[in-house]
Amino acid sequence: MVFHETKSKIVCTIGPASKPKAVLEKMVEAGMDVARLNMSHEDRRSAGKTFDTIRSVDDTLPILFDLQGPKIRIGEVKGRVDLITGNELVLSTEKFVGDASRVSVSHEELPQDVKVGNIIALNDGIIRLRVKAIQKTDVVTEVLHGGPISSRKGVNIPGIKLSCAVPTEEDLRDLDVAAELEPDLVALSFVTECDDVRKLREVITANGPADAWIISKIEHTLAIKNFDEILKESDGVMIARGDLGIEVPIEDVPILQKDLIRRANIWAKPAIVATHMLESMTEEMIPTRAEVSDVAHAIMERADAVMLSGETAVGHDPVRVVEMMERIVRRTEKIITREDPLDITSPRKMIVEIIGNMTYNAVSLIPDKIDGIITATRSGYTARWISKFRPPTSIFAVTQDERVSRRLRLLWGVCPITHKQDLDSVDDIVRESTQVAYDMGLISKEKDIVFTSGVKMIPGRTNVVGVFHVRDLIK
Ligand code: PEP
Repeated sequence: MVFHETKSKIVCTIGPASKPKAVLEKMVEAGMDVARLNMSHEDRRSAGKTFDTIRSVDDTLPILFDLQGPKIRIGEVKGRVDLITGNELVLSTEKFVGDASRVSVSHEELPQDVKVGNIIALNDGIIRLRVKAIQKTDVVTEVLHGGPISSRKGVNIPGIKLSCAVPTEEDLRDLDVAAELEPDLVALSFVTECDDVRKLREVITANGPADAWIISKIEHTLAIKNFDEILKESDGVMIARGDLGIEVPIEDVPILQKDLIRRANIWAKPAIVATHMLESMTEEMIPTRAEVSDVAHAIMERADAVMLSGETAVGHDPVRVVEMMERIVRRTEKIITREDPLDITSPRKMIVEIIGNMTYNAVSLIPDKIDGIITATRSGYTARWISKFRPPTSIFAVTQDERVSRRLRLLWGVCPITHKQDLDSVDDIVRESTQVAYDMGLISKEKDIVFTSGVKMIPGRTNVVGVFHVRDLIK
């Protein structure tokens, strides 16, 4: 395992530019913490090969399997087609090669799902249409804002709940592959209500990977409305700003981002900020000042992770982009300030949360003496609640299960260590866990550690916190 000093995590989308083993190795060195496979673009048949390559480079790296959900696309069109403002465009569920007056769409129920007056966006929201009439298989629209389209561009219908179920039939086929490949995290696109997450949980519990964390992508107006219930059912969230910026007024995105990160943080659920973070580096050597500022602000807003999409999937230099993101993260983390614990404490005020806060206090009162927080955890629950408070040292989460260990790598500040130990007494657990961290060169024997765990290590029963001198614990 490569130990990264930075605490905020970097998620990288893997695509043609980053699939070669040598590139992946350098990306891990540069700071990649999570590899994402976007099933909108990844071929199911080759996903296994990509998994094998990633695992061969670093088998402690979590893989995020991102389901495409009910994404509507237009069909084939003749080359580049320019839609003219004021003209009529028919969206049809029939299959044909489209032109500037008529294009085919992938969503069979489109005529039933929209109403006259609804707005439809094409091509990342560049083009806006208004529904004028609905006729059997055709939706007749007026082009409000024209622009270019080409084959398979995305279609968004802001605020409308599509009639197809989430996860979709296509997602279920992808999930059959996931059951075999066992990704650590599964992302669900276009979640609109907590039932979507429950359905996915049922599928993966029955078929596998049963214990994968579910990351709900927040990119629909209904996901904003139902955020608290969705968050409760999910293990984490992704603020998927690409589609979100089409679904809501684009100027609302930064405000929503800040609010959603905060609400996820209160419940110690990881939040990933995604899309266009260093977009210009897909082609350029350096990012824009605005992009640098965007990444820095996401970190200051206490995101657990920042994500790269096209930059690492199809960009000209994926390693350079990860290096740049790592530099911005490293610099910004130096100035992260403490939140008032009362402001971010969850209404449930659980013991694990109080322990998370106590841990933070211990580390911040004597930062020069403490070399790290060590938590012995079965499910990773304790690590989540310590991470929530953003303590100024690393959180070494010692766990027996390599799958738990991989998932924990998404959490802010958490450095997971897989170590088989079946000990009962807290005294033995603290000695053994500290020894492992010491043997890996992560802590010095001249320093102290803050230790947390639960008596008997029952998941969710964290009730012990203590400060120990490393030299007193190691052999
Ligand atoms: C997004 O819309 O921002 C996103 C992350 O989803 P996708 O990359 O699947 O479009």
